[in-house]
Amino acid sequence: MLHLSGQKNYIKNSLQIKKPMVYLIRKLRMITDFERDRHMELKRNKSKKREAIYDALARVTCHPTAEMLYESLKDDYPELSLGTVYRNLTVLEEEGRVKSVSHEGGHAHYDARTEPHAHFICRNCQSVMDLDLTDKTTKLYKCIEDNCGFKVENHSLCFTGLCKNCLNK
Ligand SMILES: [Zn+2]
Ligand SMILES: [Zn+2]
Repeated sequence: MLHLSGQKNYIKNSLQIKKPMVYLIRKLRMITDFERDRHMELKRNKSKKREAIYDALARVTCHPTAEMLYESLKDDYPELSLGTVYRNLTVLEEEGRVKSVSHEGGHAHYDARTEPHAHFICRNCQSVMDLDLTDKTTKLYKCIEDNCGFKVENHSLCFTGLCKNCLNK
C-alpha cells in the first residue's frame, strides 16, 4: 500500500511538473508562430516594395535613377525611403532583373531591359537613351570572334555627347 501510494504521489508530482512545462511549450510555440508570421509579413512587404520598384522601372524607357524612381513611388508608398529603393535596385541587379548604366561622375541609371544593347548619355541633361545597334554589334561580335578566336557573350557600349534637345538650345 505504502509503495503504491508512493507511486501515485510520484505520478501526481510529475503531472504537476508537466503541466507548466506544457504551458511553457505552448507559449513558446505561440511566440515562434508570431515571430514566423511577423517575419513572413515583413518578407511579403519587402517583396511587394521590390516588385513595385521593378514595375515602375519596367514601365518606362527613360532609364531613371534611384532618386527618380523614389519620387515616382513615394506618394503610393509613403513608408518607402530612398535607401530602400537603392537596396532593392542592388538586389534586382544581383538577380539579373535590372541593369545599371552610368558614366564617369554621374549617377547610376537603371534599365529593366537586360539584353545587351547600346546607350547614349547626354552630358548636359544626363538623359540616357537606347541605341538600336544590334545588327552592327552582331557584326562586331563576329569580327572579334574571327580575328581573335574569342567567344563574345556580352557587351557594354555607352556613347556620350549632346542629345538633340541640348544641341538645339
Ligand atoms: Zn541633353
Ligand atoms: Zn537601355
